[in-house]
Amino acid sequence: MGLLDSVFKKSAGEAPQKPVAAAKPADAAQKMETTKKEVKPVADKITLGYTHVSGCTGCTVALADNYAGLLTLLDKYVDLKYMPTLADARHIQKVDVSFVEGSVCINDKLAVEEIKETREKSTIVVALGACACYGNITRFCRGGQQNQPGHEAFLPINELIKVDVFIPGCAPTPQLIRNVAVMAYLLLKGTKEQKDLATKYLTPLMNMASGCSNHACACDILTQVINQGLCMGCGSCSAACPTRAITMEYGKPQLERDMCIKCGACVSQCPRGFFSHELTESYEAINEAIMAALQ
Ligand code: SF4
Ligand code: SF4
Ligand code: SF4
Repeated sequence: MGLLDSVFKKSAGEAPQKPVAAAKPADAAQKMETTKKEVKPVADKITLGYTHVSGCTGCTVALADNYAGLLTLLDKYVDLKYMPTLADARHIQKVDVSFVEGSVCINDKLAVEEIKETREKSTIVVALGACACYGNITRFCRGGQQNQPGHEAFLPINELIKVDVFIPGCAPTPQLIRNVAVMAYLLLKGTKEQKDLATKYLTPLMNMASGCSNHACACDILTQVINQGLCMGCGSCSAACPTRAITMEYGKPQLERDMCIKCGACVSQCPRGFFSHELTESYEAINEAIMAALQ
């Protein structure tokens, strides 16, 4: 069932309203008071912005694929200040957290300014998806293509600004996006215990952003996953590689480094790329915190 379906089904399923007697002034005042109490003050929410540069909108679709979970987030935790597709406001505003989808064409001065303004106005900047994190498929563009002659190289956003958190994947899973949003809320507004859990959850993703990660390549898969004994032979890296630099042989990825264009798609898709023992030890508590928040 789609997002709109769930909204419309609710209103379509409602019983026809019976005519009601006009409320007495005292009843009406009491009702207003109750309604006021039920509405969660916006000040309790974190503010969120969404900057969309050169991305395919697949990351936006992944966010929307949270369906009812997205409505809960928007209802209880997140005040969406600007977003080209899901909110009316399109001008970058001062916010707690900004998600950025896509990489940045260095010839597109507006996009370069937009990304710098996003950094200036956000407490936390999150690179959402492989394009924002590593360049991904936009690494193919080396400029001067016939259909876009004005476009030159596309850069992952951390070549232009400091990025705090990576959400890998092309597109990232809806659950991962949702979890990061909940954890960002708990980090900024939660109790000490919740802040500690959120820090644990976000640390591997923050480490990805703070590492030497302006690009990621086949060597990263080799050193960070295979050589650490973390590879489980799922083949996601091989399936994601646009140049066939990775092939699966006997259940293990084999790398042809000369064919690698350093797009980072393999690293972004590897489910073991941000593995953390500390996180697995706290898995139950983290899962409970997320589920409780979404109820
Ligand atoms: Fe599209 Fe994938 Fe880039 Fe997201 S990461 S904008 S889904 S190509
Ligand atoms: Fe991209 Fe393939 Fe190189 Fe990985 S091995 S960075 S997917 S070209
Ligand atoms: Fe191994 Fe990661 Fe590649 Fe899966 S995506 S085969 S875990 S290196």
